Amino acid sequence: MTPGPARYLLRLDDLCPTAPRARLDRLQGLMEEFRVCPILAVIPDNQDRELAMEPPDPDFWARMRALQAEGAVIGLHGYRHLCASRGRSLVPLHRFTEFAGVPEATQRNWMRAGLAILRAQGLNPRLWVAPRHGFDRVTLRVLHEEGIRVVSDGLARMPFQRGGVTWLPQQLWAPVEKPWGLWTILLHTHTASDALIDDLRAFLRHHAGQFMPAGQAMAEFGPKLPLTERLYEAAALLRFRQRQLRKRLSGR
Ligand SMILES: [Zn+2]
Repeated sequence: MTPGPARYLLRLDDLCPTAPRARLDRLQGLMEEFRVCPILAVIPDNQDRELAMEPPDPDFWARMRALQAEGAVIGLHGYRHLCASRGRSLVPLHRFTEFAGVPEATQRNWMRAGLAILRAQGLNPRLWVAPRHGFDRVTLRVLHEEGIRVVSDGLARMPFQRGGVTWLPQQLWAPVEKPWGLWTILLHTHTASDALIDDLRAFLRHHAGQFMPAGQAMAEFGPKLPLTERLYEAAALLRFRQRQLRKRLSGR
């Protein structure tokens, strides 16, 4: 990744048949208007009650297939989105996750079952999106065995190789202008407010040309991160954890 204007990826998380339809319509409208090909992180068999906001949409899977046909990249977003494990993640942003620390045989079973569900719906999952950033070296090994060689995670400023897979970092939870690097902006379909979607629209007006199709970013395999970027990554993780701690202490 050479210096120059920043490039952006858009990622939508927690996609499942009970995702709020009106919000998905708005987001899909933006993607079509500005020709953005996002990463769609789809939960194969959602059992997380917090994500069961509406009755299941019978057209959900057809919508995902249509978006995939238009260039969206499908991400395997865990298996059931039940975050009950306290294992330490390679991207330790949350205490409880679905995959980190889970025994290898179970991770393999969940991964295979999840991939089979998505494929049976006509989707081609091409990368891994861990619920709550929770995955470990075992997850990477299993992903590799299953032919998934890209993860969307990490706080570096450029794609890189680590643990046998390519990492497309995901560092933003709202649109933010950056001078250089590759930045993934993540929106959660269940909680994205109208104001946040308005912000995204305003950002796209100015920066739509800087958004990369996710498939193109996946093809740009970065090398190992240089030392300066590894230091930046460690500092970004520290800042994130300090923010979380401050939030917890202030009771929010
Ligand atoms: Zn999620």
